[in-house]
Amino acid sequence: MTEGVSIIVQPAQEFGDNPVEVRETGHYTEEYVPSFVEKWDSLIDWEKRAESEGNFFIDLLRKWGVKSVLDVATGTGFHSVRLLAAGFDTVSADGSADMLAMAFENGTKQGGHILRVVQADWRWLNRDVHGEYDAIVCLGNSFTHLFSERDRRKALAEFYAMLKHDGILVLDQRNYDAVLDDGYTSKHTYYYCGEDVTVEPEYVDEGLCRMRYHFPDDSVYHLNMFPLRKDYTRRLMSEVGFQRVQTYGDFQHTYRGEQPDFFVHVAEKE
Ligand code: SAM
Repeated sequence: MTEGVSIIVQPAQEFGDNPVEVRETGHYTEEYVPSFVEKWDSLIDWEKRAESEGNFFIDLLRKWGVKSVLDVATGTGFHSVRLLAAGFDTVSADGSADMLAMAFENGTKQGGHILRVVQADWRWLNRDVHGEYDAIVCLGNSFTHLFSERDRRKALAEFYAMLKHDGILVLDQRNYDAVLDDGYTSKHTYYYCGEDVTVEPEYVDEGLCRMRYHFPDDSVYHLNMFPLRKDYTRRLMSEVGFQRVQTYGDFQHTYRGEQPDFFVHVAEKE
């Protein structure tokens, strides 16, 4: 071995021999490898993302008189940092330690915000995160990572339990109805924030949407997701006890024509 030379091997995404068979809730930790996440964060810069999203979530939370927020899908910290900057008392959870490390670093870089981070999987959220919150946010199409109905119900029940009696859950999701109903052949390509990152469904059936992310340096990554139909998500929320669910269509994330790309559900506990 050559002295003084160290080789850092970055973990690659692992989908095995038959990637479309990978339909496991726990697989998300292996999909968000650091090289993918770093690339994503550097290309879709936060300023552009903030411009395209506007103040929708901040305004919504203020309208509801929210003070304390639990961000359960912190990722690299985009929403947590915005929430802290807007004055919300915010706790940042995620099941991925890599994500939380990056979120913490981003917080200090973006205005010196010290994130309160907790590693927690939604299925056992109450075990690892304490307290009750005015709002829980689960944003950036994150809920799609749960592959069984049992896991979805369990996660929603955990969210419900961590809300104050009059709390709200704000959860967004891609418009999978359009992806499923338009069919594979007429699939769309999404161009993020005008940048050269393209995202398109590579394989779709009622149990899997496998997305392909292509970056300008020709690197390619994938995420396997469960294609949540809008009314199904709404029904699950009602069935775990949320009293009212309002759903907004969001045209702003990407350009996609006459249908919204995302839906935002606001579920009320009381
Ligand atoms: N909200 C961030 C954003 O918009 O940039 C991150 C979104 S990223 C698509 C999804 C995040 O959800 C990842 O950070 C992933 O680790 C987390 N996640 C997925 N499944 C999870 C689970 N079962 N428990 C906890 N976190 C989970």
